[in-house]
Amino acid sequence: MRKLRDRLRRIDGKGYKAYKEIEGRYNFGDYTLFIEHVQSDPFAPPSACRIVIPNMFPEEFYLNESRKVAFEDYLTRVFYEAASRKSKRRGSGKSGIITILKPSQQILKRSSVMANENIEARFYVGLPAHGRKIVAKEAEKIFFEILPEIVEKSLKYNKVEHEKILEHVKIAEDADFIRENLRKHGLVAFVANNSILPRESGISEKPLRNAIPFKSPDSLEVEFECPNRSVKGMGIKEGVTLIVGGAYHGKSTLLDAIAKGIYNHVPGDGREFAITREDAVKIRAEDGRYVANVDISSFISCLPNGTDTSNFCTTNASGSTSQAANICEALEVGAKLLLIDEDTSATNLMMRDRRMQELVPKEKEPITPIIDMIPSLRSFGVSIIMIAGGIGEYFDVADTVIMMDKYVAKDVTEKAKKIAMKFTSMRKREKPREIKVRDRYPLPETINPYIKEKVKIKAPDMSKLQFGKYTIDLSKVEQIVERGQVKAIGDILHKIAGDFKYKSIREVMDEIDGKIIAMLPPKGEYAEPRKYEVAFALNRLRSLKCRQKS
Ligand code: ADP
Ligand code: MG
Repeated sequence: MRKLRDRLRRIDGKGYKAYKEIEGRYNFGDYTLFIEHVQSDPFAPPSACRIVIPNMFPEEFYLNESRKVAFEDYLTRVFYEAASRKSKRRGSGKSGIITILKPSQQILKRSSVMANENIEARFYVGLPAHGRKIVAKEAEKIFFEILPEIVEKSLKYNKVEHEKILEHVKIAEDADFIRENLRKHGLVAFVANNSILPRESGISEKPLRNAIPFKSPDSLEVEFECPNRSVKGMGIKEGVTLIVGGAYHGKSTLLDAIAKGIYNHVPGDGREFAITREDAVKIRAEDGRYVANVDISSFISCLPNGTDTSNFCTTNASGSTSQAANICEALEVGAKLLLIDEDTSATNLMMRDRRMQELVPKEKEPITPIIDMIPSLRSFGVSIIMIAGGIGEYFDVADTVIMMDKYVAKDVTEKAKKIAMKFTSMRKREKPREIKVRDRYPLPETINPYIKEKVKIKAPDMSKLQFGKYTIDLSKVEQIVERGQVKAIGDILHKIAGDFKYKSIREVMDEIDGKIIAMLPPKGEYAEPRKYEVAFALNRLRSLKCRQKS
């Protein structure tokens, strides 16, 4: 402590570069402070710091993996809150800012806090300056007054918070339990009774106040006996499930909750027990996207200009080709549950009706729509949950039909089947093609994060990843929920690029799945992404070229 104070006083008033001298390790009695990397000037990203403190929290908070992830998540949240309250501008640029990775409504594994024998918190401090001159007094305030208060509030055990932490970790434990047991019950998703699914607004992930709580139709209700409670709710079975209903009746809200159900949620979120299998992927049209060497011939063949769709490349995909590529790429890395909203789908990939079949004969239409691909998808082990508010043709191929009626879910399967018999479809069923999923081997040199010999990987926000010369557009990759995931995706792509020399995307993704943070250097800026999102980012890198497995 004294050493840090001395050093700060010695460099007071000097140019900013002199801050380099405080890099090092300092004993604060209760804890150890590491100043690991000092920023180059007051406007650069804040300096990386770390605190290590003996873990005095009760073991029940972290006695298994589910609880441990949730406990670490909890500590990040409290640290974030305390730091936000205490952090204030103390000079030029980022002077005085104290931050840690910002958590969303999702409970994720992150590199910001790790709880083992010790608790380690990795955070960032904007070292104070006036202009570019060091202000030691302000720096002293941060390290000797404010940080100790933040540590006291967030990294030390306080009995008052016991029940709150316990509930946080128990919810995550039960949510993981349900997710792990969905398969055993032949389910792909579960939405508990009393869940609050809608969000406050298009830009806020907080729950909507005064929303109508979710209630399962009796016929679909199942119960899970979790370690800490039993939960009843709607079970969605494997196979093809349609969500129907009038506009504005809550269809997309339900599907979005299912899409986010791959993650656990914090207590009070409303979606704590809206749980989905981890291999669920939201699929949508994304015209304009880049596509590299994907075999989309199951869905689309013989394009007019003679383009080979079994090795399809484009810098500007159409609605239907982009959606077909999204499906094929998802299947390539193991997705077995596709979530499709007609609002964001290409109509011609969803279906062609009888009149159109008559006017434009099959020979002139390269697309085999999803409705005709369902038998093939089924035999490939793929389930689908699809919003079809306008296409009753899907009644013929659905196993379950759920109607959203003023935000209330109803099981209308029988009714829909009767209607399908009464008004038989005039459509000609097209012969489904076999699902072809071809492994791809990226050329490592086409995954290049360097600009002039310097690695440039940046995640300015959740929707963008700068990777070398390219900016990867992730705005349509809907299951990314935190910026820390984007940063982790960028750094892991750099790390694994060489592996593709001998291994396919599928093989490499399987190797890294669940271990991404563990594979990356110990920095505080990562949140764990799924292998799917890593692959989807790679697929959108505009320099990517792949060799197909022959
Ligand atoms: P749809 O996809 O059927 O057109 P949305 O899911 O987009 O409808 O929902 C329409 C609006 O209703 C949204 O603003 C949403 O926040 C709100 N909403 C959804 N579910 C509920 C609910 N359970 N209680 C109250 N409002 C809801
Ligand atoms: Mg909708």
